[in-house]
Amino acid sequence: MIVVMKPEATEAQINEVEEKLIDLGFSVHFSQGVDYTTLGAIGDKSGIDPRELEIINEGVAKVTEISEPYKLAGRDFHPRDSVIDVDGVEVGGDEPVTMAGPCAIESEEQVNTIAEKVANHGASILRGGAFKPRTSPYSFQGLGEAGLKYMRQAADKHGLKMVTEVMGKNQVGLVSRYSDILQIGSRNMQNYNLLREVGKTNRPVLLKRGFASTVEEFLMAAEYVMSEGNEDVILCERGIRTFSDETRFTLDLSVVPVIKEKSHLPIVIDPSHSTGVRDKVIPMARAGIAAGADGMIVEVHHEPENAKSDGPQSLRPGQFAELMDQVNQITETVSRKKVVA
Ligand code: PEP
Ligand code: MN
Repeated sequence: MIVVMKPEATEAQINEVEEKLIDLGFSVHFSQGVDYTTLGAIGDKSGIDPRELEIINEGVAKVTEISEPYKLAGRDFHPRDSVIDVDGVEVGGDEPVTMAGPCAIESEEQVNTIAEKVANHGASILRGGAFKPRTSPYSFQGLGEAGLKYMRQAADKHGLKMVTEVMGKNQVGLVSRYSDILQIGSRNMQNYNLLREVGKTNRPVLLKRGFASTVEEFLMAAEYVMSEGNEDVILCERGIRTFSDETRFTLDLSVVPVIKEKSHLPIVIDPSHSTGVRDKVIPMARAGIAAGADGMIVEVHHEPENAKSDGPQSLRPGQFAELMDQVNQITETVSRKKVVA
């Protein structure tokens, strides 16, 4: 952090700031400009609110943070891209990864049928919810543990890994017994107790961006998981709230290169929840991969008209095949050069 003093700051005020910084454990680097004196605070600033420094005395003009607050998720201390190994499937490696499946697990037969289709068309991870975060308490809430069982069986049968949502701290043990990846839904991105709990497991975490969250909040949520020892976080851009109302949310594609600059973690995009409309899914999936995403998570249903949730945004299996074909063509043409130093 840098503390900039006002031109009229007295020596006593400057000394007081210096002492306070030293008390907080920083070493202080002075710089005397024509008008301003600045004090560079070098050291670990986690836990220190910059506003505390702004009010040390009247001589302080402003406090500027120079290094990012997300030490583990950021690139400052980890310049190389992270590749996350999901039991043999690499996320963040040379090839984009596709997670596909229904919104919700509805029955053994349903998940098995869909798993077979998505596996045949090149998905490597089966998605689906057994615990569903629904806006209405009267909507289908998921099959719970039975859903996890059906999903695990279907994934194993078709050679897929699986990702499913964990909604509460008390479900982490149960969901970890079945799932390769623990999904944190958009609505829970700032559920800090839940983030800490998944951070104590050895399961990779798919962290969906809160639909009203900034990039810094998103990366700080990843930091919560990582600070507990679990560094395997896959970020997911799933659309944010804007005034654009023709789609369910707005897929914030520019966040892909922004995250790539700030963080070493892989990021995938969700063209299904962000658009909410089936015929918008393929174009946005193409755009996401072209923007440099490390993969996508897509909803697919063999009978979307009968789906218990999110039927209107679920691709039919034939459309999923078309999506994979188009995305593969894009992957061949865009550079996926990794940051290696
Ligand atoms: C989901 O992927 O099943 C889901 C509920 O998405 P989100 O948390 O992004 O709304
Ligand atoms: Mn859904």
